[in-house]
Amino acid sequence: MESAIDIQAESFVRELAAAIIAARDGECLACYLDRVLRDAACDGSLRLARTYRDALAPRAVALEGRLESGGGFCDCEVLMNVYWSKTDEVRPCRGARRGSTKPCDLWLRRRRGDRW
Ligand SMILES: [Zn+2]
Ligand SMILES: [Zn+2]
Repeated sequence: MESAIDIQAESFVRELAAAIIAARDGECLACYLDRVLRDAACDGSLRLARTYRDALAPRAVALEGRLESGGGFCDCEVLMNVYWSKTDEVRPCRGARRGSTKPCDLWLRRRRGDRW
């Protein structure tokens, strides 16, 4: 049987996790993924990109297809294959337009076919 303390700790962890993955107002998609993936592991899907889209850009229904066509089949691949940071330190975010999934100007959109 769970004690009250276990239950409290559990809901605290759940709230903490929810706070970490909540998209912040004005934060762009790439900065959001970069921030959250420091604390949360990629689960092999575009779960975080979808969380961002649903919260801040619900009309960007083509987002997953666009990310996948750039080689981003999961959240960490988006930062490896689709958007590259121009600098090592990408914080703070320069800001995103609400409703847009375009990253701020700290990020480069990698063109297909670019080589290292
Ligand atoms: Zn991944
Ligand atoms: Zn940003």
